[in-house]
Amino acid sequence: MQRSHAIEISDLRKSYGEREVLKGVNLTVERGDMLALLGPNGAGKTTTVKILTTLTAPSGGTATVNGFDVARDPGRVRSSIGLVNQFMALDYVHSGRENLVMLGRLQHIGRAAAKRRADELLEQFDLVEAADRPVNTYSGGMRRRLDLAISLITSPPVVFLDEPTTGLDPRSRNVLWDAIRELLDGGSTILLTTQYLEEADELADRVAVIDDGRIVAHGTATELKERVGTERMQVEFATDADFQTARALVDDEGLHWDREASRLSLATSDIKHLIWTLDRVERAGAEIANLSLDQPSLDDVFLRLTQRTPEPAPAEGILQK
Ligand code: ADP
Repeated sequence: MQRSHAIEISDLRKSYGEREVLKGVNLTVERGDMLALLGPNGAGKTTTVKILTTLTAPSGGTATVNGFDVARDPGRVRSSIGLVNQFMALDYVHSGRENLVMLGRLQHIGRAAAKRRADELLEQFDLVEAADRPVNTYSGGMRRRLDLAISLITSPPVVFLDEPTTGLDPRSRNVLWDAIRELLDGGSTILLTTQYLEEADELADRVAVIDDGRIVAHGTATELKERVGTERMQVEFATDADFQTARALVDDEGLHWDREASRLSLATSDIKHLIWTLDRVERAGAEIANLSLDQPSLDDVFLRLTQRTPEPAPAEGILQK
């Protein structure tokens, strides 16, 4: 019998030898929702996806996908999911269309149905023009779109996207984001892993932050932002010497110091804390070049929870053709 949640994870554990990389993960994803599993490198995102897609077995706890237990019913889990990861095996000599049809046939959907579905997907992912060219002529963004299309050939109800936009230029990333949004509009349940806060904020209904094998926060992006406060102050110092002076004299809990940007930031709901901090910076004699007040972002949540700076999303222009 199918359960009401598309994905249910309870006290999930995984060890490699002595090393415990998942330390009791609990998560649920409702049908038709997108959850972003956000975390720094090595946090356990891919391991979670591998367990949910039956590529590796858990060491403890349980997980069900589409109502099927990953350990007891791996075959039925596999037939209800699509998976996109960075290690997709595309056949580069054949065309995009041929890849789609071959993969469809491998999954026993019949030649005519595979061809029909391939046409739909090529259209949906803006690959019609390139459909009959060999994949080795595709750009990175086109290959990633084809990966996504291939994972959807059987129209699975639950889709896993493991860092789908890592390394993509901003234009390709936006095209992929649109495709992911369409997928969600079509009723799919999606679990997306990402190191990019912007991606989680942009796409997901709910965000779970994973750090060192544990979920450290879970909620809507707005709920998570509210957890760190309603206001964010950023103080940019005139010189590195000013930054160092302020850091030495004003260091305090809740303050985040970014030396590279010569910037201090503080997220809080306590206006007095902002004024008090500014006053202490002033007394320290550190010169301020710029001061801004706005709302906290998911970056602040991430910083607060993991004590680490997140990866920036690919910068405009990088890898751009
Ligand atoms: P993320 O996807 O969040 O970057 P992973 O789930 O890939 O993190 O990895 C979590 C931790 O588990 C990392 O420290 C990684 O080195 C370790 N790990 C992953 N796979 C293996 C493996 N097959 N053998 C040993 N350690 C592994």
